[in-house]
Amino acid sequence: MKYFPIKGGIFGKKTLKHVKAVDGVSFDVKEGETFGIVGESGCGKSTTGRTILRLLEPTNGKIVFQGKNITELNKTEMRRLRKDIQIIFQDPYASLNPRMKVKETIEEPLINFGITDRSEREKRVLEVADQVGLSKAQLERFPHAFSGGQRQRIGIARALISKPKLIIADEPVSALDVSIQSQVLNLMRDLQKEFGLTYIFISHDLSVVKHFCDRIGVMYLGKMVEVADKKSLYDKPLHPYAEALLSALPSPHPLQKKERIILKGDVPSPSNPPSGCTFHPRCFSCMDVCKTAKPSLQPANSQHMVSCHLYHEPNEHQAVLGDLYE
Ligand code: SF4
Ligand code: MG
Repeated sequence: MKYFPIKGGIFGKKTLKHVKAVDGVSFDVKEGETFGIVGESGCGKSTTGRTILRLLEPTNGKIVFQGKNITELNKTEMRRLRKDIQIIFQDPYASLNPRMKVKETIEEPLINFGITDRSEREKRVLEVADQVGLSKAQLERFPHAFSGGQRQRIGIARALISKPKLIIADEPVSALDVSIQSQVLNLMRDLQKEFGLTYIFISHDLSVVKHFCDRIGVMYLGKMVEVADKKSLYDKPLHPYAEALLSALPSPHPLQKKERIILKGDVPSPSNPPSGCTFHPRCFSCMDVCKTAKPSLQPANSQHMVSCHLYHEPNEHQAVLGDLYE
């Protein structure tokens, strides 16, 4: 879980309040798969990704990677672990230092990881440059000489340099033209096959996620509301929010017309989330119990985990205490 403390004023007095940026997010990622995290902007997707890397410190909860609880590691252990978990950011323009040659940008993590042998570093840079399709001559240039797609190749090379096992890709193709998007995604898929990489792929784009991911978690207001394999989710979403999101996609069978579900209202502020199920003010299936009892993520069948009272009777504890958790 990740809570951000924020300061808020009530009647002139300073009080400290918690924005539950990410609350009760629980999922597991299998080795070698691509796990997608989808949801509208501000739902906590990026926060979840950054928390896994401890670029943001989790307020509580556990993050387990290869049997180790990451949240308990000290700085040195964490630095070592960062070799195994890398991140690719959305905006290749902003994430590259304009004053560094491409080869220096790609090499930098190796210096941070304490690899002192220069020729060893250079050899590795040439190796990854080749893997992502950058030429030797391009390594001598500065980022401004590159297009968006090429800059994302540089970002991927930088992430790959330490031979990671898990790469968190935070909207890696959202800033790119559609034609370039597929080139970058194909490259990521080839690298995954070649090196057995595991991806956590964060995106607001349901079509890209459908194309690229094996299993998917849908987030709403800092919570994971449904987790399922791709086919089960896209064929039959269970959570009303997931159903509404997916109804916006064109139907794969043109004769089978789907009705688009338009949600009422906007995403509420995470600093003042609705009581009970935080989706209830917008939900077309809202029941009385939803206003007070918080649902939790539980299996609905063998393919889906879902956090919704339509699939699980709220237990007494939730029904009584739901509001107190706010
Ligand atoms: Fe809708 Fe209730 Fe399910 Fe929340 S718990 S998504 S309000 S039906
Ligand atoms: Mg984001």
